[in-house]
Amino acid sequence: MKQRYESKEFEEQYHYEGELGALYTSEKTQFIIHAPEADEVRLNLYEKYTDSEASKAIVMTPGDRGIFSSTVEGDCKNRAYTYTIVRDNKSVTAADMYSKAVTVNGEKSVVIDLKDTNPQGFDIDTYYKHRPDNAIIYELHVKDFSYDKNSGVREEYRGRYLAFTEENTTFEGKNTCISYLKELGITHVHLLPVFDFASIDETGDNSQFNWGYDPLNYMVPEGSYSTDATNPLTRIKEMKEMILALHNAGIGVIMDVVYNHTYSLDSVFEKTLPGYYYRQFEDDTYSDGSACGNETASERSMFRKYIIDSVLYWATEYHIDGFRFDLMGLCDTDTLNILRKKLNKLPNGEKILVYGEPWTAAKSPMKKGMIPAVKANIDKLDEGIAIFCDNSRDAIKGSVFIAEGKGFVQGEELEDEICDTVTAWYKGTKGFPAHSPKQIITYVSAHDNYTLYDKLILSAIDEKESDYVTYNPYIVSINKLVAAIVFTSLGTPFIQAGEEFARTKEGDENSYKSSPEINMLSWSRKNEYETLTSYYKGLIRLRKEFSGFNMTDSNDIAKNITFIKKEKGVVSFKIKALSETDRYKELYIIYNAADRINIVDTQGYKVIADDTKVYDEGIKVTDSYIMPPKSALILAR
Ligand code: CA
Repeated sequence: MKQRYESKEFEEQYHYEGELGALYTSEKTQFIIHAPEADEVRLNLYEKYTDSEASKAIVMTPGDRGIFSSTVEGDCKNRAYTYTIVRDNKSVTAADMYSKAVTVNGEKSVVIDLKDTNPQGFDIDTYYKHRPDNAIIYELHVKDFSYDKNSGVREEYRGRYLAFTEENTTFEGKNTCISYLKELGITHVHLLPVFDFASIDETGDNSQFNWGYDPLNYMVPEGSYSTDATNPLTRIKEMKEMILALHNAGIGVIMDVVYNHTYSLDSVFEKTLPGYYYRQFEDDTYSDGSACGNETASERSMFRKYIIDSVLYWATEYHIDGFRFDLMGLCDTDTLNILRKKLNKLPNGEKILVYGEPWTAAKSPMKKGMIPAVKANIDKLDEGIAIFCDNSRDAIKGSVFIAEGKGFVQGEELEDEICDTVTAWYKGTKGFPAHSPKQIITYVSAHDNYTLYDKLILSAIDEKESDYVTYNPYIVSINKLVAAIVFTSLGTPFIQAGEEFARTKEGDENSYKSSPEINMLSWSRKNEYETLTSYYKGLIRLRKEFSGFNMTDSNDIAKNITFIKKEKGVVSFKIKALSETDRYKELYIIYNAADRINIVDTQGYKVIADDTKVYDEGIKVTDSYIMPPKSALILAR
């Protein structure tokens, strides 16, 4: 099976470039499915979404390259359908892998006129309109955002797409939800899976929780975030309303895409062409490079086409501004590079972000000769494809695998790695020769592993019992130092939602199916940690203001960044502005991770950020400044 599906002969005989799915017009709908070597394919049409028996079954016409098609005259809008595929006298019924709409729980496909799903104003909305040149990314789960009763969002929208459309929400007089995101100043939200996933029963209640890394229908929004999952149009309309609301707030939308595996092997892919869409070992047993039960085969041409078709569909139909590839290391570099080129061809498409996790969860038998998109191969990826930099992440605050593991901020001697973090590892000496800092996502926390605050509680203090609730000024000071490093390093800064207000999951390291209460953003905690939130807000403003952070050329980096001090616990450097019109010509940045004070000669500079806050206007100081332990200082002239 593996040998045959990876052969040139199979690809030449069966690769199909045309459009697939239910191609709708009000006069007729053309159904096209790619199912090579099926003995028969039938199109089943249903009267009601809930019907288990089709009212009509049409034997489809076989064509070239494994295609079966059928044209149904008349208006098929909103009609449910499935396919029955017969091989060796065995028949299976499956939804369409090219479904653009589905019934509840993604069971049947639905013919749709996408024009019916556009909210008012969506026709003039675009994915690039609000896209700034330099992104600051905020990683967010739809349910986490507004599930808290203190979110200020009306109850029927809490935990759902429409929560993003509620403006001027507050808790105790302070902004929450979308009003807060505007105030914070981030440029993009990166949403955890919002395509249709399997782990939540869409007929069940809102208290179910899952991150959603279990794809069912790749080209359809998840139903449980809509107000009515039984109406196939609702989830599409409401997801578009969410995107429009974010765009209107000046915020881009990035989708987390999980093409590396499917919920189970009992999938539309396996039913349509058994074995083709998944990788196997030499003995034809299925591999599991995702550690989620299976792994897909990006290098086989019809799955490569599928990935590209679906990403382009989200970009054009839903105006998505970026894509984050889960376990990108399971994808081959050719697929990603082709995708990047196709995105670039869209109007202003080069501004659409593409980045991913440059690793796999287990060994993968990717076809020989293909190059996996892992960190070591970053130079084989187009410059417009970035990676999460675990080197920076772990150097700053310690390993994600050892709870008490320390990084630079807790006092480990990792000054060299912090210098590399600042320059986004541009020298390429550490085994991943990036073309430019544009290829590096600089971050310390994401949905996986401990929240930053929990990690610091576990690693920076020696307590018998961890206290995540009581305000801990020492941990907050370290958190500020961490944030200062992330926002003053090259690469694209990325934070987990709530990192800026000491988000805790009370030590829950892997909350993918924990309660919504453990996972949700606590809007009262946001108010409680306001000094920390303001610090992040100030750093975000500074990041946008100072052109030096946007350096992408290695010659510029060598010329414009000068390291001043590198000794135990202290790293400092000066960074020049790239633009003449900047407010400041140069910043002088000092990180003090030591347990002692650090005295800095400040002659000729003013302080624009210290251990307490980031200042709107700089403050003058005497010729020297005493930095407290565990703090950052940003000077400017
Ligand atoms: Ca679902």
